[in-house]
Amino acid sequence: MPLIPLRPLLEAAKKHGFGQGAFNVNAVAQAKAAIEVHEMFRSAAILQGADLANGFMGGRTDFMNATLEDKKIGAKNIADAVRKYGADSRIPIVLHLDHGRDFDSCVAAIEGGYTSVMIDGSSLPFKDNIELTREVVKYAHARGVSVEGELGVLAGVEDHVFSASSTYTNPLDAVEFFKKTQVDALAISYGTMHGASKGKDVKLRKEIAVAIRECLDHEGIFGALVSHGSSTVPKYIVDEINGLGGRLSNTYGISIGELQAAIPCGISKINVDTDIRLAVTRNMKELFAQYPEKRASASIGPVYELLEEKKDQFDPRAFLPPIMDTVMYGNVPDDDVAAIVDCVERGVKEVVGTLIVQFGSFGKASLVEQVTLEEMAQRYSKTRS
Ligand SMILES: [Zn+2]
Repeated sequence: MPLIPLRPLLEAAKKHGFGQGAFNVNAVAQAKAAIEVHEMFRSAAILQGADLANGFMGGRTDFMNATLEDKKIGAKNIADAVRKYGADSRIPIVLHLDHGRDFDSCVAAIEGGYTSVMIDGSSLPFKDNIELTREVVKYAHARGVSVEGELGVLAGVEDHVFSASSTYTNPLDAVEFFKKTQVDALAISYGTMHGASKGKDVKLRKEIAVAIRECLDHEGIFGALVSHGSSTVPKYIVDEINGLGGRLSNTYGISIGELQAAIPCGISKINVDTDIRLAVTRNMKELFAQYPEKRASASIGPVYELLEEKKDQFDPRAFLPPIMDTVMYGNVPDDDVAAIVDCVERGVKEVVGTLIVQFGSFGKASLVEQVTLEEMAQRYSKTRS
C-alpha cells in the first residue's frame, strides 16, 4: 500500500472519535518496528521524522548543526525505510515531518518522500506565521501533501524547539489561522510540554480545544487539533533505567487519563517521542547488564561507553553514533549489532503498542480512506479559495 497523506487519517479520527498517536522515528529499525506494531493492532500509522532528526538520519551525529543538505539525505533515508517496510502493508501509513523550521526544510522532506509536513511558525508574530504557513500549504497541497501548523508556544526542550515558558493558544486566533492558511491540522498549546520534565500532575486546558472545535464546526471548516509534547513518561521505565545505573530525575509526563479525556474535546493527533527514547535506552542498558561480555565488543562496545558516559541522558541518538550505518540504512553486520537493533525494535513496540490501545486507534485501519497524493492534490485544488 503506498503512503497516504495525513488528511484522510485525520478525517477518520474525527469522524469515529479515536485518537491517533504520531510516533517519532530516528533510525531504520524504529521505522520497521513502528510499522509492524501498527499492523499487529490493525491501526493506521503516523511515523514522524523531526526536522533535525532528518539531519541525524543524514549522518550528522551532531544533528543540532545539520544543514539542509544533511536533512535532504536523511529525509530520503527515512522515507526509503518506510516505503521498504510499508509497501506491502495492509495499513495506511503517513510519513510526517515534525517541526519543519522553514520553507526549505518542508520542501526537502516532500522531495524525500514525506506525505505530510509540519511548518512550525509559532515563534513568529501571528501575521508572519500565517504568511509562512500559507506558503507551505500552497506548495504542499499542490503535491497532495498535508500540512500541520502551530499556534501558541509550548514550554520545554526538544531538539531545536525550546521555550522556557508557554503561551496558550487563543481560540479566536486559531480559527482565523485555519481560515487564512487552510492547514489540515494545528498544534495547539494547552498545557502539554516537550521533553521528559513536564511537571507533576499536569492538567490540560481542554476547554481551549473545545472552543476551537466548536467555532470550526460553526464555520464549516475542517481542522484537526494536534497535541504535541504528549509523552506519558512511564514511571516504571524511568525506575528501571535508574535501577540500571541511570541518573534521570524530575521526570513527569502527561497522564494517560488526561490525554484520553482530550480526544473527545477535539484532539485527533497525539505526538509521542520521549517514551520511545526511554524504552530503547532501558533496553540497551539491560542488554549490557545481562551480557557483560558485550561491553568489550568491537562493534557495540563504544555504544556501552556512551551509555556509561551519559547516565543522565535518554536519547538513543546520543548512544548510537558508533553504528550509524545501521541507523541510516538498516545494515546489520554482526550478532552484537543485531542485539542493539533488537533493543530498539522492542522499545518501539512496547511503547507504541501500549499507546495504540490507550488512544483507541486499534482496529481502525480499515476506516481510513486510501487516497493517493495525486487524488489528494485534486481534492485540495477544488477546495482552495
Ligand atoms: Zn512538538
